[in-house]
Amino acid sequence: MITGRTQNATTAPPEREALPSIVTLTQRQQRGMDCVHCGIVLTAATAFDIPGEHYYRRADLRTRWYPRRCRNCPKGAGA
Ligand SMILES: [Zn+2]
Repeated sequence: MITGRTQNATTAPPEREALPSIVTLTQRQQRGMDCVHCGIVLTAATAFDIPGEHYYRRADLRTRWYPRRCRNCPKGAGA
């Protein structure tokens, strides 16, 4: 008897983007001044706020950050 594929329990919400680890980013990337994926300088016209809430730990504090990327990032989500 052939059984179907086992049910995959992990369902990632579609709006959640994979982000690089914040420790690998430059200070400008951490501040949302540069793209978190490719490091290009962002302007008001090209910047895209990555949806969702993002946190990182610094000195035992859970700190929120607001990563941004370029709107059509070659290294970003869906690339
Ligand atoms: Zn980019």
